[in-house]
Amino acid sequence: MGEALAGSEVLQRKMSKKQTALQRRKMKRILVWLRNDLRLRDNPMLAAALREADEVIPFYCLEARFFTSLTIGHSKTGAFRKRFLWESLTDLDRQLQEKSSALWVSRGNAAESIYTIHKRFPLDAVYFSREATPEELEVEVAVEKLGIPTRSFWQSTLYHMEGLPFPINNLPWVFTEFRKKAEKQAVVGTEAATPGKIVSPEREESFYLPTWSELGWEEPGQDARAVYPFEGGEAAAWKRLQQYFWQNDSLKTYKETRNGLLGADYSSKLSPWLALGCISPVSVYWEVKEYERQRVTNSSTYWLLFELLWRDFFRFTAIKEGKSFFRIDRGALPEPGEKFEHWRLGETGQPFVDANMKELLHTGYMSNRGRQNVASYLVHDLKQHWYLGAQWFESQLIDYDVCSNYGNWTYVAGIGHDPRKNRYFNVEKQAAQYDPEGKYQKYWNEEE
Ligand SMILES: Cc1cc2nc3c(=O)[nH]c(=O)nc-3n(C[C@H](O)[C@H](O)[C@H](O)COP(=O)(O)OP(=O)(O)OC[C@H]3O[C@@H](n4cnc5c(N)ncnc54)[C@H](O)[C@@H]3O)c2cc1C
Repeated sequence: MGEALAGSEVLQRKMSKKQTALQRRKMKRILVWLRNDLRLRDNPMLAAALREADEVIPFYCLEARFFTSLTIGHSKTGAFRKRFLWESLTDLDRQLQEKSSALWVSRGNAAESIYTIHKRFPLDAVYFSREATPEELEVEVAVEKLGIPTRSFWQSTLYHMEGLPFPINNLPWVFTEFRKKAEKQAVVGTEAATPGKIVSPEREESFYLPTWSELGWEEPGQDARAVYPFEGGEAAAWKRLQQYFWQNDSLKTYKETRNGLLGADYSSKLSPWLALGCISPVSVYWEVKEYERQRVTNSSTYWLLFELLWRDFFRFTAIKEGKSFFRIDRGALPEPGEKFEHWRLGETGQPFVDANMKELLHTGYMSNRGRQNVASYLVHDLKQHWYLGAQWFESQLIDYDVCSNYGNWTYVAGIGHDPRKNRYFNVEKQAAQYDPEGKYQKYWNEEE
């Protein structure tokens, strides 16, 4: 997979001349706008701000747009996602306080909130991490228009965008071609330095992270059948990694178990933390390398990195394609009907599909094998529009990631980046193969 760079920030520095000029001058105060990078470890943006400023304000905005309704009538961020997000912010705030700082949180509009802070605590610059999709890019533009110097960082993928062996416009259309070229010619950077003490102005009361009850969000409950007791935050991410890699030694059999359905250890379960950036793919990569050094190097250790490249692929593809990545004409959004509702609630009468949909409904998680089957069933068997399913996943999945979700849905629907256009999953056959004794189906379909 190539060798380590002297530091991932080497690549960050190539980003623009304007940014380089910013770097040279010592700044008094930088606001670090955290988005899907809710971590201290391997956060190049935070590391750069700490190096370059006397004071840093770590800031997060609970943007109003996160909580608007999808056309299927559910919140973009459903109850499981809300809880995971809030836990992640709580953990970050706690960690920042340990470093003598704190997380400044606002609600509503990121650009307006940054401007409010700027008026009270004049900012020399705003640093933020770049996202890949149109809505997120619009918010970035609004922040860039504030008139405060900005510097953006790309820090959500395993391979840095600037380190790819092709410009993003020439990104291969098919995953395998992307993977082969990237594995051969790109390199994974080293982790950015973890911050020591952080100097910040004292946080004003109006920027405290609201408590759960202040937010008034509905409590999704804990279903005892959940595959893992997911909890948001960087600490919980590393706890899970420790458990899966080191304590249970499950990484060495990942390739054989990854299509499983029951139990915590058939796959890494790192996706929710990767989605919110509580852990970086670069950190996961180096932990895999350490595992290979200490325990074993085999096809399973490679395969976890292979899967992380799917994540990269969808992210880069989203950047390249812009609005067309979503393959949907905004004027013609499908309406949900009865068939969709049965599917959503796990009441189609197809036991394998129903079991998976109930798991998602009650826990906010579903295995990869399950996702492929229920998506194919909705589109190819129930003949419903794939976009309805993608929206339900968006609302419900604790690991919801705009690029991975929409990229995978269009793939299964046969309008994405699949070289085999008609990817149909015969759910009965799949159930017989992956749940031969029907244990998984019983587990979720028995009386609640
Ligand atoms: C219809 C559909 C929708 C999906 N929506 C999402 C989503 O919103 N967010 C999300 O993170 N994944 C999504 N996936 C991909 C995949 O199902 C999950 O990443 C995986 O099940 C998460 O469990 P894990 O962390 O144990 O994965 P592991 O098997 O342990 O894989 C390790 C990591 O690799 C990445 N990964 C694995 N498979 C894929 C994939 N097919 N595409 C992109 N990244 C992958 C994830 O970050 C994952 O955490 C979707 C798949 C399908 C078929």
